[in-house]
Amino acid sequence: MTLIDSHAHLDMLDGLEAALARAAGAGVAQIVTIGVDMPSSRAAAGLAARLPNVYATVGLHPHDAQQAGEKYFAQMKALAQTSKAVAIGECGLDFYRDLSPRPAQRQAFARQIELALELGLPLVIHDREAHQEVAGMLKAHGAERVGGVLHCFSGGLDLARQVLDLGFGLGITGTITYKNAGALRELVALVPRERLHLETDCPFLSPLPHRGKPNEPAYLALANAALAQALGITPQECAALTTANTRRLYRLPGLEG
Ligand SMILES: [Zn+2]
Repeated sequence: MTLIDSHAHLDMLDGLEAALARAAGAGVAQIVTIGVDMPSSRAAAGLAARLPNVYATVGLHPHDAQQAGEKYFAQMKALAQTSKAVAIGECGLDFYRDLSPRPAQRQAFARQIELALELGLPLVIHDREAHQEVAGMLKAHGAERVGGVLHCFSGGLDLARQVLDLGFGLGITGTITYKNAGALRELVALVPRERLHLETDCPFLSPLPHRGKPNEPAYLALANAALAQALGITPQECAALTTANTRRLYRLPGLEG
């Protein structure tokens, strides 16, 4: 069984080498590690340069949006042009924690959509309690030309349909294993299967039975099993499906040649 962790924060893991060995043992063949600011984007690019099966994104999280000036985006652009950078983000809007003022969040998000369009890279979107505005900005800026994924999808069917119409996929984390995730399990069965991506968001969002402890890429198999059950397919079929979906989105090489 081959899995791809489409959204990990490897730079935040303790004991990275051991975690990567466990991931390989669990069938996680490729990992996309995510930038949320300039240090983590540089760390992601550095890990991708060093590790053959790791790919990077370059982005600025809405929490840190007020850090951004034009110099920042010029640095981001240079980093995103390195060979193993596969997407722009995570970027978006977070009206739940509101750690940066909303005008700054909107500006940083718009700037990153423009960068993705300029470079022809897909977008990794963070959306927390900003569903309508995220969908509206993606539409207004023509983001369907590059597509991407709504990471850790937390919206309902209405938002899912809006972003699916724009060519975006849905990132499914280990939260699909939680007892209270019935709505998500119902939703995944109603959307086109070729738009589903598996991700850990590690070290956050550990699946059952590890909830409350640090997450790691090896636990992706638990999310895969829960997604498979929700779709009524086998874990092997779910792994093959999501691996193909994520390879297509991020243009990752297949390992079989
Ligand atoms: Zn993340």
